[in-house]
Amino acid sequence: KKIIELKQVYKDYPQAGNLQTVLHGIDLDVVSGEFVAIVGPSGNGKSTLLNLLTGIDHPSRGEVIVNGAALQKLSNEKLTRWRGANVGIVFQFFQLLPTLNLLQNTVLPMDFLGKLPKRQRQQRAMQLLEQVGLADAADRLPSQVSGGQQQRAAIARALANDPPLIVADEPTGNLDAATADAVFELFAHLRDQGKTLVMVTHNAALADAASRKLEIHSGRIHADTPTRVG
Ligand code: ADP
Ligand code: ADP
Repeated sequence: KKIIELKQVYKDYPQAGNLQTVLHGIDLDVVSGEFVAIVGPSGNGKSTLLNLLTGIDHPSRGEVIVNGAALQKLSNEKLTRWRGANVGIVFQFFQLLPTLNLLQNTVLPMDFLGKLPKRQRQQRAMQLLEQVGLADAADRLPSQVSGGQQQRAAIARALANDPPLIVADEPTGNLDAATADAVFELFAHLRDQGKTLVMVTHNAALADAASRKLEIHSGRIHADTPTRVG
């Protein structure tokens, strides 16, 4: 089943009175269960591409369809709700809410959808924290745990609504090698569970764990190769 479909996607940004074309006619299909690593030099459009997949940004031309939804056709309100149910996002700098503990951060996406009763949200959040090895840190604030622990909590949060798609932008970019390994293990586990993952990474081990590697150069897909895993 096709979960991501990009058709002739262009993205322009205004730059010094001109338009800078950051993505040049991207065509891309991703099938459910694929684990896609997006690689390439800085400033070549990788983050922009991810922002289109999550509907955080829209293309200048072309079409983005994710899990059956044509994102440009959704109102902002519908898009926010769609994102909450369909995409888990993991950022380089974690972006946990600093005044909430790890459990409260993990509950938040479920509060937003309001589907589960409150008690079940708490239970599920605790289970997710256990899965990422943070059961003992559930009541700590982000500032009271390490960067690796914050990122594992951010992954728990991304999984809260059991989204079919996880999108990550350099999830190990701010972690040392040993800590990055623990995060890598979590992503490998998600891949084995059949989640669809699309991530931008400069981490060679993480890119090698993907089933497919997309190289982006100057806003174009320069290479699209299955890996050994794929
Ligand atoms: P990468 O993720 O490959 O490093 P980005 O997608 O972040 O690349 O950026 C690609 C180009 O688009 C860069 O030149 C960047 O400065 C520009 N860019 C990205 N986002 C914006 C924006 N919101 N407004 C203007 N220019 C942007
Ligand atoms: P990355 O390290 O992923 O390449 P960047 O540091 O290039 O990310 O950009 C971080 C964020 O800032 C991105 O979300 C991007 O859209 C935005 N951004 C990048 N360049 C510009 C720019 N020239 N103007 C406005 N926003 C930008």
